[in-house]
Amino acid sequence: MKKWKYWIPPLLYMTLIFIVSSLEQPPIPPPKFEWIGIDKLFHFIEYGILSVLLTIAFVNASPSWFPARLIWVTAALISILYGASDEIHQYFVPGRFATIADWVSDVIGSIAGVLGVYFYYKKRKKGIKMHPLVDLNVPKGSLAVHWFEQSSFALKDSDGTIVQIDPYFPRTRPSDRFIHTEPPLDESDLPTDFVLLTHAHGDHTCPESIRRIWETSTATRFIGPEESVRQISSETDVADDNVSEISAGESAELNNLTVHAVYAKPPEGDPSADIGPPDVTHLGYVISGDGVNLYFSGDPINNFAEHEDLISAVAAHGPDVGFLTNHPTEGEFPFFDGCVKMATRIGLKHAVPAHRSCFVIRDYDPEEWAANFPPDGPEPLIIERNTYIIYP
Ligand SMILES: [Zn+2]
Repeated sequence: MKKWKYWIPPLLYMTLIFIVSSLEQPPIPPPKFEWIGIDKLFHFIEYGILSVLLTIAFVNASPSWFPARLIWVTAALISILYGASDEIHQYFVPGRFATIADWVSDVIGSIAGVLGVYFYYKKRKKGIKMHPLVDLNVPKGSLAVHWFEQSSFALKDSDGTIVQIDPYFPRTRPSDRFIHTEPPLDESDLPTDFVLLTHAHGDHTCPESIRRIWETSTATRFIGPEESVRQISSETDVADDNVSEISAGESAELNNLTVHAVYAKPPEGDPSADIGPPDVTHLGYVISGDGVNLYFSGDPINNFAEHEDLISAVAAHGPDVGFLTNHPTEGEFPFFDGCVKMATRIGLKHAVPAHRSCFVIRDYDPEEWAANFPPDGPEPLIIERNTYIIYP
């Protein structure tokens, strides 16, 4: 349903009120000049309905710039003011009367309608299971990192900012392709402030998930390389103002967090690794906040550890822990030994295996990966699918 359709019922209903008020003989003849009478009940119901319709429109389809906490009082105000204008209108209709008493009934009905919708949504929200990160209090000096599967992550800091990275939660999951036939997240369970995208491959920039994240919160901001930005604007309804492009070497503020974009592949390409345009704009991210630096590799070139400039760009931000894409046999990404070398040269304290536990043909055994780390190198840290850690 296109969002503006929510505004049709209240507008039609307001038109109907106007038409009925223009009639010299309304369908229900009102007793006149009584403070308490059956007509007060009609006014109460009439404006109760109007405010319910307005509130539903505001809740579901208020423009993205409109402050969410004002929708309730605004819906009530519009209904109350329309009631006032309706009384003034009736003053000019022969046979009809404008009375304060009628308007007081409109006011009470308007407020009751808004409160009704408010408590309905509040109750419904309680019944929904939210993602564990939503209620998690992250202690100062730490960041919470939830790994869903593949390269999809969510972070939360001590101020409550939630960032998702490469959200990929398709709902059509045939068992010959997907290890898990249920997605690890229902996007509506995790209202998100920022979404970072590393590149525009299907398992990293997923329009289906981006659409649902946007439906959940139109305050979400999306940040990624040009190829991801282009895909968002052509395949989703996300407002242009909420999407920004980032290139390697640039950084952006995510409330109290800072994200630094780094290259995942050498910008000049590498013929020996079969890497050339357009893949050279693929990014990794170092996210810093609360004194913690996290590195998300995106999909790095297989010989990342051999590229001094790529390594030093990441190392410059002093990441403590890296979430690293790798695969033992697939030549596109670092092999296990290449991953260890990459982690060591960047100077990571901890390394987490990523890009796994999603596709049947692209999975690998994290224990086998961990066995490649020497005792004096970065410490391997295996996160179970769809769980979070608080780091450090
Ligand atoms: Zn990938």
